[in-house]
Amino acid sequence: MSLRDALTEHAAAVALYDTHQHTRLEPQPPGGPGLWGVLSGAYVYASFHLAGAPLDAFATRPETVEKEWAVFAPYLSAVETCCYFRHTWEGVQRALGVEAPVLTAEVYAEVDGLLRAAQAQPGWGKRLLREIAGVERALLDSFWDPAYLDENTDLFDPVLRVNGFVMCPWEGNADHNNNSYWRYLDLLEVEVTDFASFLGLFDAMLERHLKAGAKAIKLALAYDRWIEFLPVDRRTAEQIWRAGPQAATPEQVTALQDYLCYYAVGEATRRGLPVQIHTGILEGLRNYQPAHVSPTLLVPLITAFPQARFDLFHAGFPYARELAVMALEFPQVWADICWVPLVSQAAAVQILEEWIDILPGNKILWGSDCVNPVVTLGATIFGRRAVVEAVARRAEAGGLSEKQAQRLVEAILRENARELFY
Ligand SMILES: [Zn+2]
Repeated sequence: MSLRDALTEHAAAVALYDTHQHTRLEPQPPGGPGLWGVLSGAYVYASFHLAGAPLDAFATRPETVEKEWAVFAPYLSAVETCCYFRHTWEGVQRALGVEAPVLTAEVYAEVDGLLRAAQAQPGWGKRLLREIAGVERALLDSFWDPAYLDENTDLFDPVLRVNGFVMCPWEGNADHNNNSYWRYLDLLEVEVTDFASFLGLFDAMLERHLKAGAKAIKLALAYDRWIEFLPVDRRTAEQIWRAGPQAATPEQVTALQDYLCYYAVGEATRRGLPVQIHTGILEGLRNYQPAHVSPTLLVPLITAFPQARFDLFHAGFPYARELAVMALEFPQVWADICWVPLVSQAAAVQILEEWIDILPGNKILWGSDCVNPVVTLGATIFGRRAVVEAVARRAEAGGLSEKQAQRLVEAILRENARELFY
């Protein structure tokens, strides 16, 4: 057996510890049941738009399967070669046990029927993650509701998203997901009367999450603003907050957000929780400056917290070397490839190869980063494949032994996340 085949077999048997999921088991994946929900609700919807589908193409679900197919069909030959489509389709095929190399009108109708029937079985999505994808545990980032706690505690561990706190110093503010901690005053039994009690709103949410077994906080602030956070003293922050939203200049609002970001990181660190941070590429079609999401912008925040543990996401894509340099400079930084194997297998392999050279083997993490369980399955297949290929190439080029190579595969897919978060 070749080393590559042996590693593939080895990786298939690894019970995954996934640093980053948004998987919704109940009540339904976004976009609804069936194939429409998969193709219009997962990353690949953006590829259809890029290939020419109008921006409102998926706004309303057509009444028949034939009409659904007609929405995707004109762009399929362009989309089916890109990684966003391939991981999605492979997830669907593996989940249903079908082998259809090409998506046609007939295949669409057949697979849609099979998928709807499977999704109607209670517990199917969870079995998919557990038994087919081989996920032992996953950190769940519930972007749709920061207070959400999933009942499947034997699979998911909660992660507290802080955007609704940092981006919402005043009642009436909302983050990019239209969330705000101000909506949880009753739930958390907090009354905000001054700046200290506003900060207490975060403490209360964090404590509630910790009681539910939270393993990290998550800063997805790249979707709301640029990610350089500078130190601001409490007096200044409090003055801005007390003067109110009408009085604050844009610079003062940014300074207040910076303070709140440091506050959240400080409180999490004090309680021993790692800090996950989105860096690099944003999901979907958005207007943003890629340079404003580079991991190097985090230097002031990371420098301020030598005792913290930072899990920097998405390889900072396309700034993977910048992220590697951060992990090389700061012992408190881990490099996470999550999502990248779905954007590009080729890029993920190349990045992992470089990281394996640059970083100690215990600083590299992997996560799937999908919402629909079928697509999460595809992400685990693509994740395992990218890790195996990168390790196999380094082994061939650099003379790693088979044992070292196996250990590295296990470290990236399981052991490093287990050590960092558990
Ligand atoms: Zn994500």
